[in-house]
Amino acid sequence: MSQPDIDSARLLRRLQCLSRIGREAGGGISRPGFSQAAIDAASYIAAEARDDGLIARTDAGGNLLISPPGPRRYARALLVGSHLDTVVNGGWLDGAYGVVAALEAVRAVCDNHLDLGVDLVAVAFANEEGARFPQAFWGSKVLAGRLGAMTVPPVDYNGGSLREALARSGGDIDALGTAAWAPQSLASYLELHIEQGPVLESSRTPIGIVSAITGRVVLAAEFTGTAAHAGTTPMDQRSDALLGAAHLAVAVSELPGRGLCRVATVGRLESSPGSANTIAGRALVTVDLRDSSEKRLAEAESAVRHRIATIAACLGLAAECRRLAHSQPARTDPALRQSISAAANDLGLSTLELPSGAGHDAQIMAAVTPVGMIFVPSIGGVSHAPDEDTSPADLIAGARVLLGAVVRAGAACGRKERRAVPST
Ligand SMILES: [Zn+2]
Repeated sequence: MSQPDIDSARLLRRLQCLSRIGREAGGGISRPGFSQAAIDAASYIAAEARDDGLIARTDAGGNLLISPPGPRRYARALLVGSHLDTVVNGGWLDGAYGVVAALEAVRAVCDNHLDLGVDLVAVAFANEEGARFPQAFWGSKVLAGRLGAMTVPPVDYNGGSLREALARSGGDIDALGTAAWAPQSLASYLELHIEQGPVLESSRTPIGIVSAITGRVVLAAEFTGTAAHAGTTPMDQRSDALLGAAHLAVAVSELPGRGLCRVATVGRLESSPGSANTIAGRALVTVDLRDSSEKRLAEAESAVRHRIATIAACLGLAAECRRLAHSQPARTDPALRQSISAAANDLGLSTLELPSGAGHDAQIMAAVTPVGMIFVPSIGGVSHAPDEDTSPADLIAGARVLLGAVVRAGAACGRKERRAVPST
């Protein structure tokens, strides 16, 4: 049997084709989940998969699933994939790379008639980014049966209906349960992704093995004071809501230095009435906290809440704090890390274990199955921007490592599967 390999020219050609779907005049890519561009991207990949002789179907959650022809042979499947949606004016590789490489892996396994001992399924998850509809990680949550009660209304930021957008994408909001996989039907999940940060590039390492995926808490803090004249109100008689927000922004930036979380960001500030000659009566800030320890995240959140109360008391303001989002950190599976490491080693590629500071579908899947993630370098560490890029050599190397890891992980799962079959 020949050593399976991906078709590197086909990989790069498909990535180039995808990069033309949803491309803005300035070169950025806009394919928000459930938009026409996201639908077109999924249609393109489905057509390519069918040209490869594979089966492509869309589940009720709008996820695209690609599998070898013929009926399923095993009780469990190894899933491999990423997402096709993007942020607004994002880059060409975030998500798309992992989907195109997953398609290559399935094709290579089929072409080489490899029996992994588990079924192999490529997946393009719907609405990972939550750029238009705020239900980020939608597709992986549906597939993992982790959607739960919808915490935000099923509409986009402009009030557009998720029901209709999902139907246009080939899904069905009334049948989401049919898209959920039982944990016992999953062997594991592998995802290849660009790093979106500078670590691999600066250490000149072509392959990253993700140790853990960051958890995240997003809070909205609102200070209410008294809008008043900027010229006539004495300094000791003010209730300046914007000043409260400013104090909080500084306190948040100091959290990592105090060992409370890995990174902390105030990314949004709104004040009203927003006039140069009026003391702000109201100010709202968002606080984004990230760490790979749930305990440290919780400590950081409680420190922020405590600080908001202290600032409000000091400045004579009323304050409120709401949690906008929470995703739990996830560890990757040691056996899958080992499969990735062995695959890279076979190809003569050096590796580095690193945590992921960005969220990924893999962390949702980690609730129901072992997960592994492979990173390749991002040039300049840039992502979620038009300049996002990775060298062709690194893109090809990452896809080869993914295939090697799929073959190893599949074989390991298959051995377990066979052991689990009772002897007669
Ligand atoms: Zn992504």
